[in-house]
Amino acid sequence: MSEPEVIMEALHVCKSYPASDGRWLRANEDVSLQLVKGKTLGLVGESGCGKSTFMRFLVALDRPDSGQILYRGQDITALRGEKLRQTRRHIQMVFQDPGASFNPKMRVRDIVCEPLLNFGLIAPKERAAVCRSLLEMVELPGDFEDRYPHSMSGGQRQRVAIARALALQPEILILDEATSSVDTRTEIEIQKAMDNLMKGRTSFVIAHRLSTIRDADLILVMKDGDIIEQGRHEELLAAGGFYANLYNSQFEDVVA
Ligand code: ADP
Ligand code: MG
Repeated sequence: MSEPEVIMEALHVCKSYPASDGRWLRANEDVSLQLVKGKTLGLVGESGCGKSTFMRFLVALDRPDSGQILYRGQDITALRGEKLRQTRRHIQMVFQDPGASFNPKMRVRDIVCEPLLNFGLIAPKERAAVCRSLLEMVELPGDFEDRYPHSMSGGQRQRVAIARALALQPEILILDEATSSVDTRTEIEIQKAMDNLMKGRTSFVIAHRLSTIRDADLILVMKDGDIIEQGRHEELLAAGGFYANLYNSQFEDVVA
């Protein structure tokens, strides 16, 4: 077997925010992890434990106080301008509430193709056709290219956001799963689209519903900004620790 190819790596990442009581809140505490080519990494933990904070560093939307974020060996926290823009192209992210960031006046074809237009990779007249093929990947009908965001369900908007993230054929796909509850059918729709997309792709998924990352190649468990457990779903369940508690309490919620 060949060595796993590490595409992205975080080394000793720390971040604190000033808290309302005048003290400092440590949102990320010495976080290190690796994204391996073709593998799905999952991140779970209670709300407020520091998941989204960390994720923003991977796409250089924010910088850690200390530590490194390496993409193919290069520290992206030091990149600026055009170099940063070119790197971002390879690392695309779907935010927690992607629908909220859509411009309500833009049609789906403009939303989905915006990254391609920005990088000059397609001409405006190609939008509709390109959009249709991207929508197909997330199992949305082609005629959605003509729609506005307000006329879609939450699950459909989520899939439009995924189609947009895929437009640049990124090497790494990062997903911060929506916290807002969706109905079971929508959840299944999103899950199906995500499963298809993550197959063979290097991805990093922050999951709120643990069902989302059951099949991840490796799951990291975060608590108070620190990675406290890691393993595959079955291993973590068998270990009977924090992940197992989290999983069992979610399951009880569903049953209750
Ligand atoms: P998660 O995504 O796991 O729910 P976050 O990374 O969003 O958690 O937040 C981690 C902690 O950092 C929380 O206590 C949150 O209130 C705090 N935090 C996040 N962003 C900021 C910010 N920009 N300013 C101040 N505190 C923040
Ligand atoms: Mg979050």
